[in-house]
Amino acid sequence: MNTLPPEVMLSEAQIASRVNELAAEISKDYADKTPLVLVGVLKGSFIFLADLARRLTIPRTIEFIAVSSYENGSQRSGAVRLLMDVRGNIEGKHVLIIEDIVDTGHTLDYLIGMMRSHGPASVRTCTLLHKAERAEVDVPIDYTGFSIADEWVVGYGLDYAERDRTLPYIGIVRPEDRATS
Ligand code: 5GP
Ligand code: MG
Ligand code: MG
Repeated sequence: MNTLPPEVMLSEAQIASRVNELAAEISKDYADKTPLVLVGVLKGSFIFLADLARRLTIPRTIEFIAVSSYENGSQRSGAVRLLMDVRGNIEGKHVLIIEDIVDTGHTLDYLIGMMRSHGPASVRTCTLLHKAERAEVDVPIDYTGFSIADEWVVGYGLDYAERDRTLPYIGIVRPEDRATS
């Protein structure tokens, strides 16, 4: 049974202010790189993507891709699996992959390869959160919202066994709530 809500790691206001900064930086960098396609990685990035995309001041289109790398809660399933590829044609376009969080880097590494196989003009990466100390693969991250400590975080799109995705802030799952799902 859920007792207390997850402990706040990043507040709604902190997230909003950082998303504004990222949007300004990306709008500037892509001012003469068109067309830009934002490729959101489902499900975790959907709220970040929605907020970021609406703050960009340059033309952009949206695509989604779905992968699975963790099966239950925080238990690793092993390899990255492609569940759904982009639907539109991204050949010759500037792709910006939008991730919720980079942990070991395996997922993003796989996604960059996947996107390159479609023949885009460029592929860059943007993640809201980065657990830098957990890196296992040296993967290029062009835009990072926040570097965070190694805690299982939820909210703003991120889940724990499908719970807490719509929490408005980034919170830390309480140890007593981890065993119960
Ligand atoms: P990586 O392949 O970099 O190890 O893992 C990336 C994926 O693991 C993320 O896209 C996300 O789905 C999941 N992940 C890693 N750490 C967390 C976390 O703290 N919270 C949540 N909700 N997902 C995480
Ligand atoms: Mg993700
Ligand atoms: Mg997940």
